[in-house]
Amino acid sequence: MAKENDSRYTSLVRDCYRSGGYVFARRAGYTGEDDEACRVARLASNENPRPPSPLALERGCQALREVNRYPDERMADLVRALEKFHGQYHFVTGVGMDGVIETVIRTLVCPGERVAVSTPTFSFYGLAAMAQGAEVVNSPRRPDFSVDVHQFVRSARDAKISFLCTPNNPTGNVTSRDDVEEILSAIHGVLFLDNAYVEFCDEDYRPLMNRYENLILGRTFSKVFSLAGLRVGYAFVPLWLVPCYLRAATPFTVNSVSAAAATGALADRLHLKETVEGVKRLRELVVRECKYPVFHSGANFVMVDVSPSSGREMADRLAERGVLVRSCESFPGLGPHYIRVSIGEEWENARFLDVINAL
Ligand SMILES: *Cc1c(COP(=O)(O)O)cnc(C)c1O
Repeated sequence: MAKENDSRYTSLVRDCYRSGGYVFARRAGYTGEDDEACRVARLASNENPRPPSPLALERGCQALREVNRYPDERMADLVRALEKFHGQYHFVTGVGMDGVIETVIRTLVCPGERVAVSTPTFSFYGLAAMAQGAEVVNSPRRPDFSVDVHQFVRSARDAKISFLCTPNNPTGNVTSRDDVEEILSAIHGVLFLDNAYVEFCDEDYRPLMNRYENLILGRTFSKVFSLAGLRVGYAFVPLWLVPCYLRAATPFTVNSVSAAAATGALADRLHLKETVEGVKRLRELVVRECKYPVFHSGANFVMVDVSPSSGREMADRLAERGVLVRSCESFPGLGPHYIRVSIGEEWENARFLDVINAL
């Protein structure tokens, strides 16, 4: 993307995360203070409302004492922890999964080359690809948001890299491993599977890593591991990509405190298990109790059809009542009538249900 478009790029990227509504919530007296009635239910950004694992905090604090030194360029401790957690795969790390996505695109895509994206989805892939001068081709999902494999393969066959998010943000649905495999064997380029929410569903794509040389699985510490503020992401990659990725990345990306905290988070299996169980239980409750149609979700959020209201109207009305959700109007190709609601703490979900069911 040309220089004069840089600020537009930045504002579009910010838009990926814009939770909106804070102004409305404040105006209505939800100041976010500890007083229970004034608290804001923050259900707009799919964070984990639980604090991080004590092990993550402890390792992070230890690392803080040594920040006069540069971090280890190779992230050896973090990579070793990932191998211990997942088994023998090849990993790269980055400043959030967003950082990984940006570096992968810089590694693989030249200006004018094609990047395919299964939409509606997280907007960052298309934006990062455009910033690299790529030709972005959107491949629309079916009306129920499942992936039409043949249609996707047609768009992706000659793309340098293709992006598929599963569980998908913002629709929540999961693409089966069989469908992913069918795509992988039909395309010539690389498939980037965004697994930011994979821990909350029952599908496991890791076995595909051993069979395909053109698969990347993107992961993040921002969601299930409660470390969004520290910005750590990683990916399972084929071995051939590792040296290319390291050449394209700046020497130091993940900082030493974040890397140490992430290493600690991986060691706390109980925190992970409790988070996933809690989300699954509360997700079921939200699906069951909400009076609007809720889409089946394999993530820590659900998408709700709020017709005949628009997503923006509904998000604003909820914000006035102390509940921040994400209007989905800015997801291209989705239509105006949806909101995305994170599964939060028990009181947050309860307030969301009280408020939306009373409207
Ligand atoms: C949150 C999210 C990410 C990126 O998370 P980081 O905080 O950059 O690690 C990537 N993809 C999807 C679909 C997300 O929702």
